[in-house]
Amino acid sequence: MAILEEPIKEILEVKNYINGKWVKSKGEIQEIINPATCKSIGKVWISTKEEIDSAIAAAKAAFQEWRRTTPLARSRILFRLKELLEEKFEELSRIQTMEVGKTIDEARGETRRGIENIEVACGIPTLMQGYYSEDIATGIDEWVVPTPIGTFGIITPFNFPFLVPLWSAPYAVATGNCIVIKPSSEDPISPMKLTELTEEAGFPPGVWNVVNGGRTVVNAMLDHTDIVGITFVGSTPTGREIYKRCGETGKRVIAQCGAKNFILIMPDCNIKATIPTLMNSFFGNAGQRCLAGANLLIVGDSDKFYKEFMDSVADMASNIKVGYGLDESVQMGPVRDKKKKENIINYIKIGLDEGAKLRLDGRQPKLIGGYPDTCFLGPTILENVTPNMRVAREEIFGPVMCVLRARDIIEAIEICNSSNFGNSTSIFTQDGRIAREFQYNIISGNVGINVGIVAPMAFFPFSGMKDSFFGVLHTQGKEAIRFFTESKVVIQRWF
Ligand code: NAD
Repeated sequence: MAILEEPIKEILEVKNYINGKWVKSKGEIQEIINPATCKSIGKVWISTKEEIDSAIAAAKAAFQEWRRTTPLARSRILFRLKELLEEKFEELSRIQTMEVGKTIDEARGETRRGIENIEVACGIPTLMQGYYSEDIATGIDEWVVPTPIGTFGIITPFNFPFLVPLWSAPYAVATGNCIVIKPSSEDPISPMKLTELTEEAGFPPGVWNVVNGGRTVVNAMLDHTDIVGITFVGSTPTGREIYKRCGETGKRVIAQCGAKNFILIMPDCNIKATIPTLMNSFFGNAGQRCLAGANLLIVGDSDKFYKEFMDSVADMASNIKVGYGLDESVQMGPVRDKKKKENIINYIKIGLDEGAKLRLDGRQPKLIGGYPDTCFLGPTILENVTPNMRVAREEIFGPVMCVLRARDIIEAIEICNSSNFGNSTSIFTQDGRIAREFQYNIISGNVGINVGIVAPMAFFPFSGMKDSFFGVLHTQGKEAIRFFTESKVVIQRWF
C-alpha cells in the first residue's frame, strides 16, 4: 500500500514558546530522527537556565489577569482550540507517526484522546464550582471556593508526545493557572504543533509556555520557588526522584511512572475474541505504552489448553506486518531509537540466559518497504518465564511478551501482586465470579476485564499503584481539576 503523504517536508526548528513568542534557544542542539526512515526531521535546543527562568517569569506575570478571566471565557478559548485541532487532526497524527514511529491508526487514537481531554476541560464553569453551607452556627455561613494557585510545570515522556501534555494542560489553564511544559526532547515537534494552535485559539501571552530540554530543565523547574506544582509522566526512577524533590521544596505533585503489566488468561476465556486483543495489547505502539501487556499469565494446569492457546498467539504475532507507520497496512512501527532497540535486545538475551525459551524471535523482522532496520523489531515471545526472572519483573518497554503459568486464580493474583509495579492488570474470563474476585484482590490502578488496554477515558482518572504512581490525585478529569486548585474555605458571620 502507498505511504501517506509526510507532513514534515523540511528539517523543522523546534523553538521555545515563552510569553507568546517563539524564541530560539542558545543551548546545545539535538537532532530529531524519524525512526522508520532514519532521516532527520527536526532540531531542538536544550534550554539554558535563563530561558527556563524567563518562561516561569512570563507565567507568573500572566497569572493575575488569567485567573480573573471568567471560567466561561477560558472555556471558550478551549472550545476554539478543540476546533483547530479537529481541523488539523490528520496532520497532527501523521507528525506523531513521523516522530515516534507508531502506526497512523495508533497516532489517530492518540490525537483523539488528546482532544477528548480538552472537551472535558471545556466544562470548567460547572466543574470548578464550590459548595456552600448556610448556618454552620446561627447567622454564620461557610463555603469553599476552588481557586487557582499559580504556575505549574508539566513534564512529559517520549511515547505519547501529543496526548500526555493534554492529560494536564487543559485542566491547569481551565482552572486559571499558567503552565510551563517540558516535553521529551526526543519528540518535541508534536507539542510544538499543539502549542502553535493554542496561540491561534487565543490564549494570552504567558499562560501557556513550552521550554525544551532534558534533566537540566526539569531540575531548574524543581528548584524554582515560583513553580507551585509538577505533573510528571515517565519512568519510575525519574518519577521517584521528582516526587522526592517536590516534597523537599513543598510543591504538589502527580508522578505517573513505569509499568510491567500482567494479562491473565483463564481457560474459559473467549479465545477468538481474546487473541486479537492481545496482539494490540502486547505489540501495539511497538510495546512502548505504559498500559501495554508485558507478562501473559496462563492460568490452569491443562497443557492442552496452554498449547492450543499459545500456538494461536504465536501464529497471529508472527503475521503482524512491521514497517513505516504511514503505510496504512502496517500493524507495528519501529521503536523510538537505536538505543532503545539495543536495550530491548539486551533484555531478550537476559531472558534467554535466565532460562526462558524463545518462541518467536523479533530481532530481525521482515519489513514492509525498503527501510533501514535500525529501529525496527518484530513481536517476540519468551516462554517458560518464571515470576522472579528479570524479564518478568523489569520494564522492557518493547514488543516482548513474557509467558508465565499459574496453577489457579489465587496463585495468579499472588504472582501479579508480587510485582513492584501496579499500573494495569487485565483478566480474560467469562466467569463473573472469577472476574469479581480478580478485580477485588488485584493491586493495580487500572483493571481490565476482557479488555487488553485499560486506557481510562478523559473524564476518569489515569490511575496507578505501587512503583507506577507517586502522589494522591491523578491526571485527567475531576481529579486534575482538584489537583490544579486549592480549596479556599470562607466563613462569614452576618452582623
Ligand atoms: P523518562 O523518565 O526517561 O523521561 C520522562 C521525562 O523526564 C522527559 O521529559 C525527560 O526529558 C525527563 N527526564 C529524564 N531523565 C530525567 C532526570 N534524570 N531528571 C529529570 N528529568 C528527567 O521516560 P521516557 O523514556 O521518556 O518515557 C517512558 C517511560 O514513561 C516508561 O517507563 C513508561 O512506562 C512511562 N510512562 C508512564 C505513563 C503513566 O501514565 N504511568 C504514561 C506514559 C509513559
